[in-house]
Amino acid sequence: MWPLNPPTVSARSSWETCTSKSRDTAANGNLGASLREAADAAEEAATTLRIAAQARTLHNLKAENFKIEGIPDKRVADIVYGSGMTKGPGRDIYDALMDAPEDELCPLCRHSDVTQLDHVMPKAAYPALCVAPENLVPVCGICNHIKNDRAAADAEDVLLHPYFEHTDTVNWLDATLATSALDAGRLTYFVNPPPGWGGTLTARVRRQFDLLELGRRYSIKANQTLRGIHHHLVRQLKSGGRAAVSTHLRDMAASHLVADPNSWTGVAYRTWGANDDFCEGRFW
Ligand SMILES: [Zn+2]
Repeated sequence: MWPLNPPTVSARSSWETCTSKSRDTAANGNLGASLREAADAAEEAATTLRIAAQARTLHNLKAENFKIEGIPDKRVADIVYGSGMTKGPGRDIYDALMDAPEDELCPLCRHSDVTQLDHVMPKAAYPALCVAPENLVPVCGICNHIKNDRAAADAEDVLLHPYFEHTDTVNWLDATLATSALDAGRLTYFVNPPPGWGGTLTARVRRQFDLLELGRRYSIKANQTLRGIHHHLVRQLKSGGRAAVSTHLRDMAASHLVADPNSWTGVAYRTWGANDDFCEGRFW
């Protein structure tokens, strides 16, 4: 849901690089040559992917149209992506894709650091896209583990593709504050769609928010943040009262939200700073 600059290397170049050292032997039926000859199919597959991503119709892509003729799917993925990209001549392309996020945060959650490449369309079912740069997004291990080999079932099930669409310019992340002593200061995050969002976009963002467990993950982080600033808030309350606490929290919120209107940190400070009871120290 956060944007990334699209890759600059082409699908054809990536495929040719990743298959450049695939071996030809009598035993493997000149597999390397067969893979290299599939560069046209890989390029065509990547073009189809881009058009679908831009049209928000990734759920319509049929796996049978993304095969490499005559070679089993798993074999293509293992050789071209596994041996060719992660451990072979395409490693520089892999590393460049991994370096895309400026702050090394996952574009799907902005909760955890980028640690691996996710295949937007799973390589096991869509082998022609296994090294297509626009099918490869750097993500965190948590998001990748949850997403796994998922393919969208319908239009509302399509996760936002960081290279082609984003929701970072308007605020959609919100939170409410627990007021019970037991859950003092704990936040419940939710998607609050801004005016102008259609039903499909709202459903997609909510689906992604729920799928990736962003509410739970942000709430844990916010609680840890609150523990870290507790002493500072106590001192502010003693020296300047509720107004001083509120001003500090609102300033912190503004600082975070100017950089990212959907920063979980900024939303936490905003929610705390807007609650009079919280600013009077009743829920710490
Ligand atoms: Zn993530």
